[in-house]
Amino acid sequence: MVSPAIALAFIPFLMTLIIRHRHYFLLFWRAVLLRKVRDYVTGLSREERAFQYVMTHGIPGDPENILSTFDTWCYHSEYLSNVGPEKGKILERLIYEKVPLTLLELGTYCGYSAVRMAQTLPLNARLYTVEMDERNAAVAEKIIRLAGFDEENGECRGVEQIISPSDEVIPHFRERFGVDKFDFVFMDHWKRCYLRDLQLLEDHNLLQEGSVILADNVIFTGAPHFMQYAKSCGKYRWKIHRTHLEYFHYIRDGMAELTYVGLK
Ligand code: CA
Repeated sequence: MVSPAIALAFIPFLMTLIIRHRHYFLLFWRAVLLRKVRDYVTGLSREERAFQYVMTHGIPGDPENILSTFDTWCYHSEYLSNVGPEKGKILERLIYEKVPLTLLELGTYCGYSAVRMAQTLPLNARLYTVEMDERNAAVAEKIIRLAGFDEENGECRGVEQIISPSDEVIPHFRERFGVDKFDFVFMDHWKRCYLRDLQLLEDHNLLQEGSVILADNVIFTGAPHFMQYAKSCGKYRWKIHRTHLEYFHYIRDGMAELTYVGLK
């Protein structure tokens, strides 16, 4: 049995640990513990709770307002791994600069980044956004519509939602959706799938010289195999946008911007 004296000696150590890593403890509290409690109490997922808040407080048809209402909920209530406002600005800036016409998002989640991208899209551009979780896809569909991207001919204008695992849909984009190449790909789904899906895009000839791949969370929580491949395969120019984790300014994160240069 540990003596009280030894136990007491550990208290300063524990306090130091907690203070030094308080932002990670806070993230764990909001993203895991608080979520589980509220899931149990409300019978809803946190994504559905976020939608209820946005629906009650947001202004329909105003994408900026819908996004900022989402942000308010994420800063002050529960944590969602949306791309968030800081990294969202990088995403928007790149779309403004590159003017892509055919875009792919892997990981629609709640539709937050799809709204950011949709409001930035050039005329005649089309965003295909892929989500494997049906419950989250249902939230995303409602958020995209609430933001004003109304249904038109059975599809949200400029945005096409696909409910499927990414590795099942990527090989069939050409025949199912008539997509020849993607100009811009935003990856924000499971980090362990980044490398697999990048190689699937290559294998199915869906990238062309100048195609941009923007991958979120390459520092926290990180995608080391993906980054190692991107840096060493010779098919990409790359750079890291150093920034912070969505809704946690004290946790460092980054987005990787890859530009496909093709096979040498
Ligand atoms: Ca993310």
